[in-house]
Amino acid sequence: MKIRVHDIKDKELVLAGEEQIVDYPTLHAMETAGECRFVKPLAVNLTVVREYDHIRVQGNVATSVGMGCSRCLGDTVHDVVSAFTIFYSRDAGLPQDEEEVELAEQDLISATYEGDEIDFSGEIAEQVLLAIPLKPLCREDCRGLCGICGADLNVTECGCDRQVINPKFSALKNFKAEK
Ligand SMILES: [Zn+2]
Ligand SMILES: [Zn+2]
Repeated sequence: MKIRVHDIKDKELVLAGEEQIVDYPTLHAMETAGECRFVKPLAVNLTVVREYDHIRVQGNVATSVGMGCSRCLGDTVHDVVSAFTIFYSRDAGLPQDEEEVELAEQDLISATYEGDEIDFSGEIAEQVLLAIPLKPLCREDCRGLCGICGADLNVTECGCDRQVINPKFSALKNFKAEK
């Protein structure tokens, strides 16, 4: 999703649309690597306005991702939603450090643009990546797989004695008993 800087006036400009994953290289790469699959295109809404010496973009992005449950490996689908504010200033070749520190305190994102076009795709992809769950669960109380026989404990109780599989725990038990 792009905009010509020339078209941004003092009045708010709303950009809304569905974006295809293939147009977002970092997201598409995740999908190709099998880390997740996007079950919907990105629904993007941006409000763009010129302010002082920068361009303020307030927006949100939503999609759904299919992933393997981190406990039982079963298929899960998660809604991914993110709201953000980004300040774009023209890249004047100045060091960025100071400004970024200042803005970080407000939990806002600062970015730069060059030329007469702003491409929002990089920042949008970043927001989606941050909102994807790191350890997705098919449900809060997923029981996972048996560490001994690999059975899905949500479906069956295999009857294995799982108390003994973790030597760390047994060491801890002994330690406590000695005290
Ligand atoms: Zn699960
Ligand atoms: Zn088992």
